[in-house]
Amino acid sequence: MTESVRHDAVVIGGGIAGLAAAAALAERDVVLFEAADRVGGRILCQGAGNYWLNLGAHILGRTESPMARLATETGSELLPIQGHMAAVWAKGRLVRHGKVESYPFRLNMSLGARLSLIRTGLRLRAANRRASQGIQDAIHGDRVFAGSYPTVAGDGPLDARSFAEVLGPMHPEVDALLRAGCNRLSGEPEAMSGHFGSLIVGGLWSSATRTAHSVRGGMGAITDGLAARLGNRIVTGAPALGLGQDGEGVRLRINRDGREEVILARHAVIATPAPVARRIVADLPEDKAAALDHVAYGPYVVMAAATTESGPMPYDDLYAIAVAGRTVTMIFNSANALRGPDGSARAPGGALMAYAGADKARLLAGRTDDEIRALFIGEINEVLPETRGLIGETRIQRWEHGYPYWRPGRLDIQDALARPFGRIHFAGDYVEYPSTDPAARSGQMAAQAILDALATEGG
Ligand SMILES: Cc1cc2nc3c(=O)[nH]c(=O)nc-3n(C[C@H](O)[C@H](O)[C@H](O)COP(=O)(O)OP(=O)(O)OC[C@H]3O[C@@H](n4cnc5c(N)ncnc54)[C@H](O)[C@@H]3O)c2cc1C
Repeated sequence: MTESVRHDAVVIGGGIAGLAAAAALAERDVVLFEAADRVGGRILCQGAGNYWLNLGAHILGRTESPMARLATETGSELLPIQGHMAAVWAKGRLVRHGKVESYPFRLNMSLGARLSLIRTGLRLRAANRRASQGIQDAIHGDRVFAGSYPTVAGDGPLDARSFAEVLGPMHPEVDALLRAGCNRLSGEPEAMSGHFGSLIVGGLWSSATRTAHSVRGGMGAITDGLAARLGNRIVTGAPALGLGQDGEGVRLRINRDGREEVILARHAVIATPAPVARRIVADLPEDKAAALDHVAYGPYVVMAAATTESGPMPYDDLYAIAVAGRTVTMIFNSANALRGPDGSARAPGGALMAYAGADKARLLAGRTDDEIRALFIGEINEVLPETRGLIGETRIQRWEHGYPYWRPGRLDIQDALARPFGRIHFAGDYVEYPSTDPAARSGQMAAQAILDALATEGG
């Protein structure tokens, strides 16, 4: 077994959290080890003519958010999303525009379901207000932590219960609608915390006009840009096997080309999903180990499709469509940010992304890609009939660890989860409200803590 010289820092995991950490440490001697043969993790896209196919993260928040700043630094072009963000399809009818409050009167529902949706909507709005206390736009916002993570005073009871308990009983048609919102976040309302569901599903529900951006070419433009800057400081195809530490520094075991190597460094950022961090890091304190064990990821099955229309489509002005009562949970019009107000300037073709989340994704586990393709195309055609015969190239991606939605009791473990352990810093979307902005920020915060420590240590 070979041992390396001692680096200033090692980063384990080349998703956006690890890349952001390594980029922030670039002035020092840093090396990033990634298990896969590519970096980007759950940011995954590919070009398709004038468009791009999204198979992972696809929406960015405001222009002053951490991801938007990384986009600027890497020369990636942000494109404002023009389209409606909260269209809903249920029982054969697509409700496309207008206020979410008007949906109970416009969706195709029975009278009982309409009344139940009004009741549930009021309950959700009140819970969302409570969960939002002290927190600005939690998922795609620009909260800046003054070196610490937020605690939410008075949110105990919401966080202690499931989202299903907070919402209370509802009509099956309303259940199908709310479930689509939860499945978008890879969870079921019974498994998700009331705090998380109220804040995030409630936020999505009322976010028809929120500020959001795509990146030209897809978010992979940002991860590719960071990777290009880091050059040969990134080692792909090198899974970490174990990470220990002593007074001097950290000791990382990796597998490279079928051989085990030991890498020495003064500090480490572990930016893998929580179960990998739990398995790799030696001698974790009990509360930290329990916190990592608490983190649950829900699955997604995603299909991205190029479309072959020759001119404008009726859904050009939509971005996100929640689908109730089908296997597909969400359909996104990835090309929306390229559509100007003037339809005549519209290029031919397009790109859609459709996915099933949580239990609906689990039900697809035994299906072949061809079966999934046929099912998804059928459901896209049902929701957007004008796409019939126009779905071209497709790509399927299964994410087993798609998204770390919060389970009840999550706020109680926030400190243990985010806290460094000696010379090892933890980064990734699971240490916060999960999405790319917080993931990038957690990597940058870990890097800053290491830069501060290195400055104090000297050398
Ligand atoms: C379908 C889908 C849609 C989404 N949509 C959005 C969206 O629109 N907007 C948004 O902001 N977020 C979205 N998200 C969430 C977003 O993708 C994640 O929050 C974010 O990308 C997580 O980044 P990360 O670096 O924490 O983790 P990851 O991207 O999972 O990176 C972890 C890395 O660690 C590597 N690794 C694992 N084990 C080892 C090991 N032993 N050694 C070395 N490396 C290892 C992995 O290969 C991976 O590259 C979406 C996610 C999915 C799946």
